[in-house]
Amino acid sequence: MRQYKIAAIPGDGIGSEVIAAGVEALLACAARDAGFQLVFEHFDWGSERYKRTGAFMPPDGLARIRQHDAILFGSAGAPDVPDHITLWGLRLAICQPFDQYANVRPTRILPGITSPLRQVSGPELDWVIVRENSEGEYAGVGGRVHRGLPEEAATDVAMFTRAGIQRIMRFAFNLARSRPRKLLTVVTKSNAQRHGMVLWDEIALEVAREFPDVGWDKMLVDAMTMRMVLRPDSIDTVVATNLHADILSDLAAALAGSLGIAPTANLNPERSFPSMFEPIHGSAFDIMGKGIANPIGTFWSGVMLLEHLGERPAADRLMRAIERVTADKSLHTPDLGGPATTRAVTTAVCEALLGDNR
Ligand code: NAD
Ligand code: MN
Repeated sequence: MRQYKIAAIPGDGIGSEVIAAGVEALLACAARDAGFQLVFEHFDWGSERYKRTGAFMPPDGLARIRQHDAILFGSAGAPDVPDHITLWGLRLAICQPFDQYANVRPTRILPGITSPLRQVSGPELDWVIVRENSEGEYAGVGGRVHRGLPEEAATDVAMFTRAGIQRIMRFAFNLARSRPRKLLTVVTKSNAQRHGMVLWDEIALEVAREFPDVGWDKMLVDAMTMRMVLRPDSIDTVVATNLHADILSDLAAALAGSLGIAPTANLNPERSFPSMFEPIHGSAFDIMGKGIANPIGTFWSGVMLLEHLGERPAADRLMRAIERVTADKSLHTPDLGGPATTRAVTTAVCEALLGDNR
């Protein structure tokens, strides 16, 4: 029997609630399938550990998860720790050294869920946003000098490299090619940012020539927000920089019903390092500990994890279970306007999995 080792890192806030739910659903999924087994190893890395020991993960942390087949991550962020410390101390401390440069964020309107967009019932909105996940605005290049003085200055330099742009463009064109519409939108801001973003555009054009069968267009990021709201059906696959895609994907999640359902995969496509799967939402301080966090984003991330492992039938089965549950409005959590708890949704998904005879 195939066996996969998964590192579970719940992190902070509702991270622990949704990851517990996600592990339960994935184990139910593996139990339903005779072909493979999932072995979870749990890591208590996060803000509590940071406050206790001064570090989010132990010094040999990366080495301890280096050989795992995948990572399931919750959220990094606590009310009493500055956000840039948590993000760089935990999530980016894994993404960057493991070179998870392709961040994939599918968005569509699941059965039973209502989009805030008028006249959008489902098929009009079916997107995958590809986020460059290793450089750009979040490269970490910059500094701060003359602290506290009137001449205090700070910079964050957006860094773009030919190699970095080339690999994300190739990844995005390939992904667009694998989808029925074969359509890619390259998001840019090369009117205002005349160095890095112009290189971005030039390399998009070069890579596009390698994919003559994929239709593509280019869109300034501000205009892209309008297009997402006004003409969602004109979009299929999207590629954007680290910052732009971060923002656009929260908008996408809201247009598809709630941030709580949106999944993501931080992929190292060459598989030199483990890839990491997580809901796109954060710690949700306003609802943590209440038992009402929507676990669907984590379940859908679990689908992406299973796809990455090559367990396609199990991935499809988990997706069908998710859709059967979202179709029932009494199983919607409060972010979707329903009365359900994390527990109720998790139990329902596990039951749907066991009842799936396909
Ligand atoms: P957030 O995603 O935590 O919350 C935004 C809003 O969405 C809140 O009202 C929250 O209740 C709601 N929400 C989010 N997930 C939900 C779910 N599963 N079910 C129901 N409602 C949900 O974003 P924020 O408030 O900007 O950030 C809070 C903390 O999380 C900050 O410390 C931030 O840095 C961190 N954060 C971490 C990540 C990550 O680790 N990947 C991502 C985003 C934010
Ligand atoms: Mn974000």
